[in-house]
Amino acid sequence: MTTSDYRKAFKQLKANPIKLQKYQKHNAPKDRSCSVLKKKCRRCGRTHAHIGKYGLNLCRQCFRDTAVNIGFKKYA
Ligand SMILES: [Zn+2]
Repeated sequence: MTTSDYRKAFKQLKANPIKLQKYQKHNAPKDRSCSVLKKKCRRCGRTHAHIGKYGLNLCRQCFRDTAVNIGFKKYA
């Protein structure tokens, strides 16, 4: 199950609000203080290859796309 995946079942459960409540109670992901999944790319939502340095909060792919526009002259 991916990070945003558990909400996909809501579409089907909206017909029965009581079952939806029960589903959310038992299947919502735990609120964690620290995890890889806690850090998400603010542009695309990807969880891996996260760059948090300088408050960027981008994944490596989005960083490659936007680095020149942000003002980076040199990047790997
Ligand atoms: Zn991204």
